[in-house]
Amino acid sequence: MLLRQLPLLVLCVVFCLASPAEAELRVKGLRYGMSGEGTRIVFDLDRPADFRAFLMEKPARIAVDLPADKWTLPTRNAARDTLVTAYRAGAIDGGLVRVIFDLARPAAIKSAFLLPKTGTSNDRLVIDIVPVSAQIFSARLDEMVGKKSLGKAQDTLQKPASKPSATPTRAQKKKYTIVIDPGHGGQDPGAASYGVTEKFITLATALELRRQLEETGRYKVVLTRDKDFYIKLHDRVDMSRRAKGDLFISIHADKIDRTGVRGASIYTLSETASDTETARLAEEENNAGFVAGVDLGQESQEVADILLDFAMREKMSESHMLAELLMQGLDRGDILLLPNSHRSAGFAVLKAPDIPSVLIEIGFLSNKNEAKLLNSGQFQRKIAAAMQGGIDAYFRKIEAIHPR
Ligand code: ZN
Repeated sequence: MLLRQLPLLVLCVVFCLASPAEAELRVKGLRYGMSGEGTRIVFDLDRPADFRAFLMEKPARIAVDLPADKWTLPTRNAARDTLVTAYRAGAIDGGLVRVIFDLARPAAIKSAFLLPKTGTSNDRLVIDIVPVSAQIFSARLDEMVGKKSLGKAQDTLQKPASKPSATPTRAQKKKYTIVIDPGHGGQDPGAASYGVTEKFITLATALELRRQLEETGRYKVVLTRDKDFYIKLHDRVDMSRRAKGDLFISIHADKIDRTGVRGASIYTLSETASDTETARLAEEENNAGFVAGVDLGQESQEVADILLDFAMREKMSESHMLAELLMQGLDRGDILLLPNSHRSAGFAVLKAPDIPSVLIEIGFLSNKNEAKLLNSGQFQRKIAAAMQGGIDAYFRKIEAIHPR
């Protein structure tokens, strides 16, 4: 996305590798490109190499670690008009070299990836950064892009600006934290029909799901509300982030004009809620918060949009995987599903930037039989068990991808 309008500004820096160790890596050049407000940093490498990149604060910086025993690197200012004002490099523990880029203003790593060599070009490490508010910068200090366990065994991550949670500590088999968000509450009842009110059944289902998840001993469960009180949409998101949730599930029930429609459906976030039905639903759920006195405000919406733009990307695929596995869990648990039951919509509550998030509509209150069913403890136990099956499957898959 960057680099479309302007060619790369070549900043001719040649790194020299002093030690021909096994991890020898020669950085042949460092270039900057820019487009709009973003800056692209390109390392030209003599071979593909693992890397990791993260933000540091006070002042705002971006650190990039690469496996090399020694480099020499001239210190000089970076290209004009980019987000980078200066950079330097030095050896750190673990046989790594850390390159620090000083930032002209708070910025975040939008993406970082290796490009294989083609024809005349080298292997490249590309890091795209975009300017962000101080608030988002702070929120992203904990994040690390690339290979977290880079370097030799004793690599102590010299990352004072960040908490240790940025490195994987799953070896201790810590419990996964599941954030369950019962939709609506307090003065915002949600949908209601046939004497059944959404805010009560979402809470009852959430409490049952918590009970079942905790029973396994594998999960720590955080509820955004455990009683009938009102909570703003963005507070629900904030809460899940503070809890450092490994996943976020918002529970709702739907209501439409067609009384015959039944079945559960699962939503992940989409930037453009193209399907009018899902767009309508997203609007209703979002407006529910607004009607009940929530003003998400310009700042908050802007924050949400920016987060949506670059941070959600990383977690989007995990959200989709979670949705698919939850759906399979529901199906196996004999829960009726809507056709095309995995959908996407612009729910504000799904905009946690770093937590795989789904919203489940457990059924339709507009259908008399389903309203009765959703209100029954028996059904709540059944759907909670089915959801737990999906959650278990999700973490099995995550562990297969990233062994703990
Ligand atoms: Zn709802």
